[in-house]
Parts: sequence; C-alpha cells; structure tokens
Amino acid sequence: MNFSSTTRDVLSLGALNKKNTLPIYRGKVRKFIYFCIVIGDAESTLIFLEQSPDKCPSANSRTIALFLRWHVLEEGENLLDLNNQAIIKDAKGKDLKCVGGWNEMNSVNQFLSAVTTIHTQKDQSGDYVDICNDCVNAWLVNSSSIGCVQHAYRRKIFRSGNPRNSKEVKQMIGLIGKEVENHVVRGAYQLLPKEMRAIRKMLLSTNKKEDLQCWVMILLSVKMYLRAEEVCSIRLEHFLKEWFVLDETSEKVKALAVKVKGKTDDDWLRFFIYRSDDCPEFCAMRHLLVYLHSCEITGDHGWLFPSLHARSRHVPYEKFLRNMRVRFTDLLDRRLPLTCHSLRKTGYLFAIWGDARIDVIRLDARHMCTKTSLAYEQDAVSMLSYANISNENAKYEVPRYKAVRVINQAVGVMLSSEVSNVRELSSLAKLYVERDLRVAPVADFYRTSFILMTRAEKEVVEESPLISLRELMKANMPLRKYDDAIVLLGQLC
Ligand SMILES: [Zn+2]
Repeated sequence: MNFSSTTRDVLSLGALNKKNTLPIYRGKVRKFIYFCIVIGDAESTLIFLEQSPDKCPSANSRTIALFLRWHVLEEGENLLDLNNQAIIKDAKGKDLKCVGGWNEMNSVNQFLSAVTTIHTQKDQSGDYVDICNDCVNAWLVNSSSIGCVQHAYRRKIFRSGNPRNSKEVKQMIGLIGKEVENHVVRGAYQLLPKEMRAIRKMLLSTNKKEDLQCWVMILLSVKMYLRAEEVCSIRLEHFLKEWFVLDETSEKVKALAVKVKGKTDDDWLRFFIYRSDDCPEFCAMRHLLVYLHSCEITGDHGWLFPSLHARSRHVPYEKFLRNMRVRFTDLLDRRLPLTCHSLRKTGYLFAIWGDARIDVIRLDARHMCTKTSLAYEQDAVSMLSYANISNENAKYEVPRYKAVRVINQAVGVMLSSEVSNVRELSSLAKLYVERDLRVAPVADFYRTSFILMTRAEKEVVEESPLISLRELMKANMPLRKYDDAIVLLGQLC
C-alpha cells in the first residue's frame, strides 16, 4: 500500500496551511500516523484525520513520546518503551527498530507544533489528561457509571488536552535534547574510558558476585568485540589451554586463549586475552582469573558465565542487556540507553585510543562492513581529539592495544611453546589469587571483589633482567655481533 497517497487528502491540516510550512508538517504527521499503525495505536490517529469524529480523543502522549525517540535514535537501534525496559513490538510481534534521521531539534519542534495546532483546532488545547483504566472498566460495565472511586463524578474515560504538554512528552524532549546536543558522542554509543571506569567502580564496589561477573562480561565484550549473545555463551571447554602463555621465569600468566563462534561466523575464531600491566584497571586477564576464583567457576566444562543461582544455565543475554540499560544509563549521564552493540563499538574506541592499526582492528572485530567500521573509527578518532584537549587525561587512559585475534594458527602454536606447564584454567585462577595476589585460601575477608582487584592492580610481571638485556642488545647491536654476544651470554649464565 502506498501510504502517502492514501492519506494525503484525509489529513486534518487546515490549520497548518500557512505558506511553505504545510509540506513539512504534513510529512511529519503522515509519518506519525504510520508509526501509530505500526505499534497498533489507531486511536491516536483519529484527531489527525479530516473526518475525525466530534469530540475526538487526544493522541496518546506515550505514542508521541515514542515517536520522537523512534526518529532521534540511531537507525537500527531497538525502540525501547518509556521505562527503558522492554523493546516495543510492531504489529507482527517483531522488535521495532528506530529509523533515525532527526539529528537536530528543529524536526522535533516542527512535529510538536503540528500536534499543538491540530489539537487546538479540535478543541483539545488544555492540560493533557489521560484515561483511567478503572474509570473505563466501570463505564464498560455501566455506561452511566460515575467513574472509579478516585475520580467519582469526573470520570476519565476520554483522553483530552494537548499531549505536547504531557509529562511523557516533556521528559522525552529532555532526553533527546541531551542526545542531539552530544551528537558526536551519540553517533555510535561508544563508552569513554572514564565511563568504563565509572561502571567498573560501581560494579566492583558492591562486592556482589553477580556484579563482578557483569564487569568481566563487559570487559571481555569490549576487548574481543563480542555481541551480547556471544559473551553469554562462552563455555569453559572453549578455552585453549595449550595456547596459554606463562612467563618463563615467574610462571605468571601472560595470556589466555579462547575460541568463539558467533552467529555469523562460519568457523571458530581464536582470541588471546592478554595481561595489560600498563593499565590493570582494564586488564581482562586479571579480572577473569579473579572472577573464576571468587565465583568458584571450576572444572573444564560448563558455562563461563553461569547464572549464579542456577548454574546449569548461562546468564540470559536479555538480563545482561537490561542491566546495562537500567543500571548504567543514570550513571553515565547519557540519557539514551546502551544497546547490544555499544560494547563492540567501545572496542573500536579502546583499540584506536590504544594506538592500534586500522587493518588490525578490522580483522579483530570481524564481520564488520567497511561503512560501519569507518563510522566507528571516525567516532573514536573525533572523541580522541576531544579527550586530548580536555584536562582530564588520566580519565581517558587505555591500555596499549595488542591484536587479539589469532589469524594464523601457527602464531598460537609458536607463542605457546614458551609454556612449561600446561594448566587448567581454574587452577591458574587459584594460583593467581593465592600465589600472585598472596591471598590465603582461608582468608574469606579478602575475598571481596574490590580488595582482590585492588591487589591485582598492583601485581605485575617483572621482566627478567636477562630478557631485557637480550632485547637491549638486539635493538642496539649489529646482527652478527649480537649472535656472538648471545652465545657468550649463554656460556656466562
Ligand atoms: Zn478513575
């Protein structure tokens, strides 16, 4: 059905018929009617029609607020309800995606003027009053009912007034205004390092195991560019223990390895989870090992992120996303919710800020069409320039980037030849907490995520002096002399 041609002439736009403004208004109102039909709110379309009944009810303020969000959020994002809890469904029950396109307040204001004009024209210019379900039910039973107890003799069975002035619409204008203002930030919903730090602080300071788990899931998603369903479904048997890298002298863990197979991947992809001594706050290896030990994730079989109350199931990814939406949206002073792509996008930001090469990032992030990856890269670069001119350098610090994906399996095998003792993941975790962090097995007092992670931040791998000497010689000596020197060094030690 060609919607525009069937509605063109039935729209009630007489009052909008000012020179030049009509086409703009009409286009926006037509889109609103389309939106009402998609979400199944036919009643809200009535007042916009030329042939609307006498005493026409006002449009629903919630529908208008959602319509604004639908147009302001990035195309393809799920449209969430006004509590940021559930995804709005279309008439076929499918998740409704935002269409985007309104990047400035001008379009929002034009549409809202049209709403005011039309409501005024239909004698609905007063304060917005919603219906009361109790009053409606009482009326359905008996049409001469006086209304519910609360609204006796002033029953609310009819939406009236201008929804432009409703609480819902005013709140939504505040939210999207903020979003439009920060459109650089909005572009890709990348979390800034300082925002990641705030999330980390909040999650670790509660000392709840679920929160530690949530933080590790976030960190792994950012480091490995994982989608929500991918991080939730990692299993212990996906860890490649023959590829774990331990320090030769101290036997401390330097890297873990895990394979992941996403919905769109044909084959398993292999990733390293590195130690980042330069920025331990964002070191995935440290957090993962502490998490495994604190939450008693043992053995070599089962979910890496089980639901901690029912360990046979993994954390449902809706729950993981809901957590991000509900808990962090306030914390971040970012009024629109985080989505399942936010962490992958944040991965780009961490990579670019950590000095990664673009071609390396694209390989690591996998399955990214160039147009999208370009947008992510550009956003990360422009945010970096912003961070560079701000006075809060420390808050923007990220670890130096290391390529996470193993493209050539031979590399994995080569690196792993360093390993003297192949170990199970859970015994490495125990060793890490008890030996490297020096927390006695019985000291339950220390087993809070906050204390364990504070200790973990201070724990680093000391480069062996011999290795440093070798590196120094390699960098500064002619190759032939270096070979001789190494032989000599071997004899000396
Ligand atoms: Zn009532």
